[in-house]
Amino acid sequence: MNLLEREDALLLPCALHYTEHGGRDYPEEETSRTPFARDRDRIIHSRAFRRLGYKTQVFVNSQGDNYRTRLTHSMEVSQVARSVARALGLNQDYAECLALAHDLGHPPFGHAGQDVLHMLMQEHGGFEHNCQSLRIVSRLEERYMHFEGLNLCRATLKGMLKHPRVYDCDTQLHDILAERKSGAPALEARLVDLCDQLTYTYHDLDDGLDAGILDFDEVRELPAWEVEEKLARRDAAFARSRRPVQIRVILRQLLGRWIGDLTETTGEWIRTVGPGSVQDVYALPPERYPVRLSPTTEESVQEIRKFLFSKLYRHSSVLKMSRRGENILRELFSEYLARPGMLSERSAMQLNSHGLERVVCDYIAGMTDRFALKEYAYLSGMDQAVL
Ligand code: MG
Repeated sequence: MNLLEREDALLLPCALHYTEHGGRDYPEEETSRTPFARDRDRIIHSRAFRRLGYKTQVFVNSQGDNYRTRLTHSMEVSQVARSVARALGLNQDYAECLALAHDLGHPPFGHAGQDVLHMLMQEHGGFEHNCQSLRIVSRLEERYMHFEGLNLCRATLKGMLKHPRVYDCDTQLHDILAERKSGAPALEARLVDLCDQLTYTYHDLDDGLDAGILDFDEVRELPAWEVEEKLARRDAAFARSRRPVQIRVILRQLLGRWIGDLTETTGEWIRTVGPGSVQDVYALPPERYPVRLSPTTEESVQEIRKFLFSKLYRHSSVLKMSRRGENILRELFSEYLARPGMLSERSAMQLNSHGLERVVCDYIAGMTDRFALKEYAYLSGMDQAVL
C-alpha cells in the first residue's frame, strides 16, 4: 500500500480522497508528502500568504497589535476546519489547504478595498477576492522556473472556487470552473466555508469588544450570551475573574459549542444521506447536502452576525477607516493607470499579456495596508505620520 492509499483508507468514502487529487497542470513527481500537504506548504511559502499578516480583517493593521489580521484569521479557520475534518473522517490536509488559501486574494483595507477595486474595474472584468485568490495561485505567484503560479492540484483549485466564477482573462481556470459548475462542492470545501463564518463571527465579537466599539451590555443581551449565567453558577472562579478573561471564557465556550454542533449535525447528515463517494457528493441537491449546523445554532449565529453588521461593521469609526482605505486605493489606481512606468518590474512585464487595468488592479490588490499607505503618502508628498 503506498502513502496515498494508506491515507485514503482512514477517510470516509464520501471524503475527497488523496488519489482523487486530479493531477497538476505541469506534471511533477510526487514526494513523501501527500499532494494536499504539498499544496498547503506551497501556499504557506507564498508571498501572498505572508502579506496577509498586514491586511485588514476588520481593523486596519496599524490600529492595534492584538486584533486579527487576514493571516491570523486564516490560521484560525484552518485550525477549526482541520479539527472538524478529522473528527468527521474527512480529508484534513485538503481542508487545511483550502482554509489557508481562502483569503489570499483580499486587497488592502478589507471589504472596502474589494468594493472600490470592483467599481474601478467594472469595465474590465471586475474584482472579487475569491477570483483573485485563484488568479494568485494559478498565475501571479512567481516561484518556479517552468510554470506560473504554484501548480496546485486540480482538486485544490476546484475546492478554492467558493462561487462558480473566475475572471474571463484567467483562461487557465476555465475547465476547472466548468467542472465546479457541474455539481455541488466537496464536503471539505463547504466545511471550510462554514468554519470561516463561525470563526469570524467569534473573533469579530472578541475584537469589537476589545476595541471598545461593541458595548458589553448590548452584547450581553444576545441570547447566545446566556452561557455567562451558567458559567457564573458553575464556577466561583468565573465571578472572581477580570472581565476580559470572562469575555474570553464565554467566547471560547460559544465557539466550542458551534464547532461541536457542526461536527455532530454534519456527522448525522452524512450517516442519513449516506453518500458512497465524492462523486455522490457532487450530485447531491442542496436540501440533502450534509455540511450544516442545527437550525437552533444556525439561528443563533445569524443573530450575532446581524448584530455585528449593525454595531461593528457599520460603526462610524469602522466606516471612517473604510472610507480612508477606499480613497487611498482610488488615488493609487488612477496614479498607476496614468503612469504605468511607476509599476514594479514584475507588473511591467505583464502589461502586454494581461492588459493595463488588470495589471494595475493586481498590483494594488497585492499590497498590504501599510504598503498602500506608504505609497499613497509618498506619491502625495505627505508625511506618513499624519496618515
Ligand atoms: Mg475569511
